[in-house]
Amino acid sequence: MKRQWKIALDGPSGAGKSTLARALAKELGLIYVDTGALYRTIGLYMTRKGVDVKDADAVAARLPEVRLELVYKNGSQSVLLCGEDVGDSIRTPEMSLAASAVSAIPAVREFLLDIQRDMAAKGGVVMDGRDIGTVIMPDADAKLFLVASPAARAKRRYLELTAKGVECSFEQILMETNARDEADRQRNIAPAVPAEDALFLDNSDLNLTETVAEALNLIAQKCAGKARS
Ligand code: C5P
Repeated sequence: MKRQWKIALDGPSGAGKSTLARALAKELGLIYVDTGALYRTIGLYMTRKGVDVKDADAVAARLPEVRLELVYKNGSQSVLLCGEDVGDSIRTPEMSLAASAVSAIPAVREFLLDIQRDMAAKGGVVMDGRDIGTVIMPDADAKLFLVASPAARAKRRYLELTAKGVECSFEQILMETNARDEADRQRNIAPAVPAEDALFLDNSDLNLTETVAEALNLIAQKCAGKARS
């Protein structure tokens, strides 16, 4: 039977998880599953409907209306919200905060469990998020926890947003990054903490090529002896 790798990639926002996950997926022939996009899409839906994203009861009450699908074309993921491709509308700083807020609501995490676990069960994935190694894919073949200094992470997010034409300031992004991390770390449900068997990778001073090389190294060590097919 063909064995499909499952790679879990967790860590704080702005550490470069999505860029690394995309590169690893290409290198290893896996599908990249961006779970943050699901939380962002719930945040988008609630914001559009005028629901306070911090109001757990109000958000939970509207969840049954939400229909989410993940589709993959040429290795890139799109999220369909009730049939509509949300595209980049989930990538604004406002949606980062909305995603963080709804992600602390137990009903939202519960709601998103099946879609993530279904993707995990198929295997052949690099999945990035906050609780992939601990909750979604505890049986992952390799679990990486990617970290970088707050300044390095905020700078990358800032460059990413300005390149897309989103108006923002570095100080604002740094503040939001710290606030979001703190909230992610402090929450009672699925806090963004590394799995016990996670391998740390600090890429503050590494460029993308070096980060990918180091990640492949760690995955190779972890997966040594596990047949791929
Ligand atoms: O990774 P990204 O920045 O797109 O995630 C947006 C927010 O969604 C994070 O700040 C985090 O609060 C939440 N999230 C989560 N669990 C995941 C993925 C994202 O709680 N697996």
